[in-house]
Amino acid sequence: RAKEAGRNTYRFYTEEMNSHALHRIRLEEELRYAIEHKEFILFYQPKLDLTSNDIHSVEALIRWQHRTKGLIPPIEFIPFAEETGLINEIGEQILDIACKQLQQWQQKSSPVEKIALNISSCQLDKPEQFFSGLEDRLNRYGLRRDQIKLEITEHLLMGKDDNVIAQLHHQRQSGLSVAIDDFGTGYSSLSYLQVFPLDELKIDQSFIRNLSENSKNKTLVQAIITMGHALNMSVIAEGVENQEQMDFLIDNGCDQAQGYLLSKPLPAEALDNWLADNFCRN
Ligand code: C2E
Ligand code: MG
Ligand code: MG
Ligand code: MG
Repeated sequence: RAKEAGRNTYRFYTEEMNSHALHRIRLEEELRYAIEHKEFILFYQPKLDLTSNDIHSVEALIRWQHRTKGLIPPIEFIPFAEETGLINEIGEQILDIACKQLQQWQQKSSPVEKIALNISSCQLDKPEQFFSGLEDRLNRYGLRRDQIKLEITEHLLMGKDDNVIAQLHHQRQSGLSVAIDDFGTGYSSLSYLQVFPLDELKIDQSFIRNLSENSKNKTLVQAIITMGHALNMSVIAEGVENQEQMDFLIDNGCDQAQGYLLSKPLPAEALDNWLADNFCRN
């Protein structure tokens, strides 16, 4: 009996492992195909400046335009792309799309002057390579470094050495800016805030979501805004979904806001229309 049960367990286990392994193999093949056929696209979500009530920058968010499955969100393939290193090639394509788009916006005098790009940790494993790639794109599309912001996470910063810090410093001196994304969800150590060159602090949406019901979150958000300002950072709240949250942020001196209340991430053309409808200056 025991032997039988053991055998069954074993068989079940291998089948499960096989299907898991199979899933990964398929996903890797699919991702390679997607890279080759350039199936990745960007949506753009506006960042509202709460002082001027203007929009000058957007965050670029990747989607996989799959030929049969439709639009696939980043959560379903970015972690795997990071594990396999495929994120580097995807990141290069994203950079090209973003810079090309920015050039187009520039040519038609769009209010959008700046794009924030999400960067995975392994993209900065070889910082020289990453930044020379960035330089190439900026030159190709006639853009300046101060039109690009990198969004990185606390997690990324924890593992990086002095060389990455030095490179980031150097890049910032020539105009590039850096945001710390999902702030408050990563490691509890704040020492990296003092070590790393950062321009913008993005309060994670989990703090914003429960703002009205949770008075502790109100206190935390106020404290994060105060701390960000004390460290000379611009503070932005992500995931702003209702007016109550927006009012709280304005009352407490938050610099920018991003979220569904304003707009979901949109394809470039839809964003252009939205901007024309809502932020027309004439
Ligand atoms: P993130 O950078 O923190 O992006 C914010 C996420 O929140 C986005 O999800 C955005 O669509 C969503 N969001 C924005 N406003 C609201 C709101 O009001 N309510 C709610 N519930 N959600 C909101 P998305 O586009 O699915 O991206 C998820 C994550 O995938 C990003 O988190 C980022 O970590 C990663 N990611 C996206 N694009 C890229 C990319 O080009 N490269 C890399 N390496 N990672 C990316
Ligand atoms: Mg981000
Ligand atoms: Mg975030
Ligand atoms: Mg996030």
